[in-house]
This record gives sequence, C-alpha cells and structure tokens, in this order.
Amino acid sequence: MSRSSRHGELRGVARAFGRLVLPQECAGCGRPDRVLCRRCRALFGEPQRCEELTQHLAGSQDPPVAPLPTWALATYAGPVRHTVLAWKSGGRPDLTGPLTAEMARAATVVSPIESPTAPGPVLVVPAPSGAARRRAGRFVVGDLADAFGRAVAGVSDGPVAVVDLLRRRSGSGHLLGAAARSRDRAQAVRCQQRLSPGTVCLLVDDVVTTGATLAACRAALEESGAIVAAAFALAVTAPPGSGVIELSAVSKETQRTLRSVD
Ligand SMILES: [Zn+2]
Repeated sequence: MSRSSRHGELRGVARAFGRLVLPQECAGCGRPDRVLCRRCRALFGEPQRCEELTQHLAGSQDPPVAPLPTWALATYAGPVRHTVLAWKSGGRPDLTGPLTAEMARAATVVSPIESPTAPGPVLVVPAPSGAARRRAGRFVVGDLADAFGRAVAGVSDGPVAVVDLLRRRSGSGHLLGAAARSRDRAQAVRCQQRLSPGTVCLLVDDVVTTGATLAACRAALEESGAIVAAAFALAVTAPPGSGVIELSAVSKETQRTLRSVD
C-alpha cells in the first residue's frame, strides 16, 4: 500500500470516528458540525408569559380557577420543535447541555413572583413522564428541572430543592394534547407524598400545549397541601394563526428521527 493511500484510509477512519463522537448536524436546521447552531439557539429567547395562549392555564370563572403564571422561552415550531423532539427521542443526548442551559435562564424571572409561606425549601417539581420514557433514561424534564432548580437557588434567599414528586396515573399515558380528556385532568397526575401546608412549588415541563398536563400537576400538588406559584417550560405551542414558518431545510436523518417520535 502506498503512503498516500494509507493516509487516505486513515483520514477515512478519522472521519468515521469523528461522526461517532461529534454532532453531525444542528438539531434545529441540519447545518453541519454544530449541536445547535447560533441561529437556532437564538430562537430560545427571554422568558415570556404564555398561560393566556393555553386552554387550561388561563384560569376560569366557572368553576373559579386562578390563572397559573407560566413562562416559556420559545415558540414550539420549526427548528425549536425539531430540537426538542430530537432530544426527547434519545437520539441527541448532546442537546442536554444547551437545552438545560437555556432552561436555567428562565430563573431570572423567579425572585419577584414568590416568597415562601411555609418552612422548608421552595420545591422545583418536574412534570411527570411516562414509565417507559423514565425506564429508558430519557426523563428530559428531570434534566430541565435540575438545571432550573440550580439557577433558582442562585437567585433565591431561601433553600430550593428539586423533587421528582409527580407520577401519571395509569390510563393517562396519552395525557399530552388530549383535550378530550380535560374533564379528567385533575385526577390524571398524583403526588407521591403530603407536603407541608403552604409549601411553594414551581413546575417545570418541556413543552406546553393545551396546558392540561401542567393543570393536572398543579391540582395534584395543591391537593397535597402545596401552593403552585408558577410554571416554566422550554417552549409553548404556537397559537393558531401565528404564521410560524416551518423550516424546510431539515436533513433526511432528522426527518426520520422526527417521524419516529412525533
Ligand atoms: Zn440550526
């Protein structure tokens, strides 16, 4: 074998190895050699209130339910949607760093909204995932809650604890987006322990759609004695007619990933 062909072979091996250890493309837009390119990452902006965009968090008069102050960093569409789905599918664990870092930024709005009314820490509570996702080690909302909780502890006077308190009740596996189940939503999630009356909780989820999941989480925590002060998510589904343009330049591999988990 000539020296140049051996070099060519080594380069081929290095490229193949590089594909194993380096991201092949931006999870949002398919741009090569980036986990999440600057343009896609910039779509995660400042935390914005979004409860009014949802069916179940905006509050109601009959029965009287107060709105749940809810913040999201992005609109769940286009590259943001591709990114979150790629992460949740388990195919892109390299997104944990950037997405948890984005989630942590939401803590900047926390200090004005709550002051503990009970002894003990403020609790940061992740929305529950299905048992299968949990077993597969893909409890991404737990990762978001950990990062958010650390950031809240940095801006809070008192102690903060991240506690995985909530579980879906069996039979509610299709909770997300299931508007038809809304009448059952208060029973769809259970809290695993009683809490000191007045314990302040902050909820964390990955994506807010109708708000049914977070409303069920709130009901379960309140039933256990807590006060749910607010909720935080990476993204909120775009309201109808908002004219969000889907990005078309997504690679075939990303499209396959999306189809497998969407
Ligand atoms: Zn991108």
